[in-house]
Amino acid sequence: MTYRLGEFHAFDGAGRKFLYLVPSAGIFELDEVSATVVARLEQGEATRAELAALAGEDVIDELYQAHAIATTEGFVEPLEQPPAEFPLQTLVMNLTNQCNLSCQYCYEFGEDKVATPEGKPKFMNFETAKASVDYLLTSSAGRRAIHITFFGGETLMNFPLLKQVVDYASAQAAERGRYIDFSLTTNATLLTPAIIEYLSDKRIGVTVSIDGSKESHDKFRVFANGRGSYDIIEPKVRALIRDHRTRPITARVTMTSQAMDVLGTYRHLKHDLGFHEVGFAPVTTSPNRLYSINERGLDSVLDQFRRLAGEYLDYALRGEHHGFSNVSDTLAELHQGVSKSHPCGAGLGLVGVGPSGDIAPCHRFVDSDTHRLGHVSSGIDRARQADFLGRGHINSKTDCHVCWARPVCAGGCHHEAYVRYGDTGHPNLHYCEWIRGWTDTCLRIYGAIAAQNPGFLELFSERKAA
Ligand code: SF4
Ligand code: SF4
Repeated sequence: MTYRLGEFHAFDGAGRKFLYLVPSAGIFELDEVSATVVARLEQGEATRAELAALAGEDVIDELYQAHAIATTEGFVEPLEQPPAEFPLQTLVMNLTNQCNLSCQYCYEFGEDKVATPEGKPKFMNFETAKASVDYLLTSSAGRRAIHITFFGGETLMNFPLLKQVVDYASAQAAERGRYIDFSLTTNATLLTPAIIEYLSDKRIGVTVSIDGSKESHDKFRVFANGRGSYDIIEPKVRALIRDHRTRPITARVTMTSQAMDVLGTYRHLKHDLGFHEVGFAPVTTSPNRLYSINERGLDSVLDQFRRLAGEYLDYALRGEHHGFSNVSDTLAELHQGVSKSHPCGAGLGLVGVGPSGDIAPCHRFVDSDTHRLGHVSSGIDRARQADFLGRGHINSKTDCHVCWARPVCAGGCHHEAYVRYGDTGHPNLHYCEWIRGWTDTCLRIYGAIAAQNPGFLELFSERKAA
C-alpha cells in the first residue's frame, strides 16, 4: 500500500501543531510521531512499511482514519445534495419594504438592488403574515424549535403587525407542541420605551444596524434629507441595552471604504454603548462603487480583525466573554465540524418572505421577480428551488474544489455572488485570500484555546453561527 498526504491545512496554536482536515472538517492535533509521518509524506509518497518503521502501525491507521493521510488509490467523494424537502427552520419576514433612512449603500434601494417592488404591497398585512406563519409551521415538520426573524425595510415601521404575528405564531406553535422564538433587525430610529418593554417581555432578540461612532455611522446611515441618524439612535440604543433584560443585544456593522476602523468601532460599540456582541461585514456591492472596499482596504480590515481576534484569545484563555462575534461564529463552525454543501441556509433551512407573500431564498432577495421561489399560499416551487440550490452547491463550484477553506466558506454569499458576478452560484473569488486568511486566524485561536483552556470550547457546542 502506498500513501500520500490527505487534504488539510496545517496550522499552529500555542506552539502545538494541528491539521484542519478538509474532507471531514475535523481538527487533529499532531503529536511528535504523527508529525514525522506528515513531514515524510511532504517529501513524496511512501509505502506502508516505510511509514510503519517510522511511527508504528497504529499511528498510520489513526492518521488514515482521520484522513490526514490517504492511499494513492483513494478518491474524494462529492458531497451529497440535500434532500429536496429539507425542513424549514427560519423564516425571515420582511414586514415592510419601506425605510425611514436612505443609507446610500443599502442593497434594497441602492444601485445594486435586485428587488423589483413596483406594483407590490409596501407593507405586509395580517392575512399574508398568518399565511407565512402557517407555511413555516407546515414546512418545518420534524423540527421542534423554529424561528422567525423580522426584517425590513425598517422593521419597526410595521410594529403593530409584528405584535400580531408574535401572538398568532406563539399560539399556533404551542398548539402543535413546537417551540418558536423571534428576533428582529432594526435601525433603532423608531425605538420607544414601550417597544423596548414589549421586546424584552416577549424575549425578542434584537440586532441593531449601526456603523460605529457618530463620524463613521453618519457617513451612510442618513435620513432622506442627508442628516445623519446617530444622534437620534444613540439615546435609544442606550435605553434598549439598559432596559431589554431578557436577550443580549447585538450590533451589526457594515464596513465601507470610508469606514474601516474596526478597532475603534468595536471599542465604541462594545465599551461606550454596551452591546453584548459586535459583528462586522463588508458592504455588498459591485467593485466600481466609491464605497466598495478594495484589495488594500481588505488587507487593512484583515489586519485589524487579527488584532481584535488576538484580544479575543486573551479573554478566552481567562474564560471571559469577548464580544467580537465574527470570531465566535467561526469558532462555532469549526468546533461543530461544519462542512457546508452551501454557504448558508438560504433556500434550504431558511427563506425570506416579502410583504406580498412571495418566497425568496433569503431576506436580500425579497421582492425580486428573478429570484422568486414561490408564495406562502401555494408553497415553494421545487424546480426553482432545485435550480437555486444546484447552482449554489459546492460540487458546482469547481474553483473551490482545491480550496482548503471550502468546508466553512462553500463559495460565499449567494446574494453577493449575484451582485458581483450576475450568478448566485458563482464563487466569491474576490474574497478568497481574505477568507483563507481569516479562517487560518480562527483555526490558530481554536488550537490555542484547545491547548490551554479546552473547557471554553464547550460554549460553542450550541451556538448557531451567523
Ligand atoms: S470562494 Fe474562495 S475561499 Fe471560498 S471556498 Fe471557494 S475558493 Fe475557497
Ligand atoms: S449569506 Fe447571503 S445568501 Fe446567505 S442568508 Fe446571508 S445574505 Fe442571504
